[in-house]
Amino acid sequence: GDYLRLEDHTRTASVVNPGDSVIRAKNPAPAIREGLEGLIGNTPLIKLPALSAELGVEILVKCEFLNGAGNSPKDRVALSMIKHAEEESLLVPGRGDTIYEGTVGSTGISLAAVARSRGYRAHICMPSDQSPEKSSLLLKLGATVERVPPAGITDPDHFVNTARRRAANHTSSSDQAGRGFFADQFENTANYLAHFETTGPEIYRQTDGQLDAFVAGAGTGGTLSGVAMFLKPRVQGLNIVLADPQGSGLYNWVKYGVMFSPTEAEGTRRRHQVDSVVEGIGLTRQTGNFLAGANLIDDAVRVDDDTARLMARWLVQKEGLFIGASSAVNVTAAAIVGKRLAEKEGKKGGRIVTVVCDSGTRHLSRFWKGDGSNGEESLVELGQILDQAK
Ligand code: PMP
Repeated sequence: GDYLRLEDHTRTASVVNPGDSVIRAKNPAPAIREGLEGLIGNTPLIKLPALSAELGVEILVKCEFLNGAGNSPKDRVALSMIKHAEEESLLVPGRGDTIYEGTVGSTGISLAAVARSRGYRAHICMPSDQSPEKSSLLLKLGATVERVPPAGITDPDHFVNTARRRAANHTSSSDQAGRGFFADQFENTANYLAHFETTGPEIYRQTDGQLDAFVAGAGTGGTLSGVAMFLKPRVQGLNIVLADPQGSGLYNWVKYGVMFSPTEAEGTRRRHQVDSVVEGIGLTRQTGNFLAGANLIDDAVRVDDDTARLMARWLVQKEGLFIGASSAVNVTAAAIVGKRLAEKEGKKGGRIVTVVCDSGTRHLSRFWKGDGSNGEESLVELGQILDQAK
């Protein structure tokens, strides 16, 4: 491959000892940071007071929407993929290189911004049925946007396959400047390494290594794998829990070892798309970044769309926090894990950490659509929300 092989990192990760330099370094943020990249990482970890009080355990959320390039954890991933490609001379500043990616979401926004800050062009391929807001934002960030007809992942014209092909053609064509680099967030291990090297250590430092569970969904699997690989060997008894939206195959995979069980009515045929309004998490296939840390996952919680919406509404009313769809799934799953911890083990003072990936403003047209509620009367009680989650 074009990038570091998965096995190399898995081996490196397993030989890192607790107490290594990455933890010891306190890494205080400098007063003046360097450019756009100074806005990436070192995000706050906040306790949700209302939710924690109701559950009797601390629910802490890593505020990844405060990454300041593209306002999501994908800022870390974009920077990491570009830096690793530079280390291998797959990208060279000043050569006129172009970064290609097939993405419908946050990764394209982060890549477009970070690419410009490091002197590259970005070419983003996306399905033509996506909302025009996404492509116009990318255009404003200086990216080239190519909209391709919707197709399955096995189709050569799927947007990911298109991006891969464009990168290869760019490099082999003599009349184009620079080289093409296919970022490939699903398989490129620089993705989970970003979380192994930054998100995981930050959570460790911010909690002093005191936490009972880390809960997160998987879109590429980078966050879950990278954070789990860092924290699991260092935090005794830590539970790693996958938060999965409806229609994803990962819940079944963690629970029963199969993605889609033939005994389940919904799973008689292999699906190609996650059937949920929740964008960005859930998978119907294995990815390199998910597999990297998959053996560290202890449990899974499935959250259906209605439950995630109720929880998102509850968080606005009680915490003043307006979050996106995948974050609502994460926080709901964290609350379920916290509730079990408090009930089953009577563990007062337990602590669950999860991720808020992006703001609700990115999800007005789907996840938040139709939520016209303004008042307390629409508020469903927390107990009722968590009871209806499967
Ligand atoms: N939330 C959102 C909004 C995302 O776009 C993504 C990434 N696709 C995730 C969560 C999941 O992160 P990861 O890719 O690290 O599994």
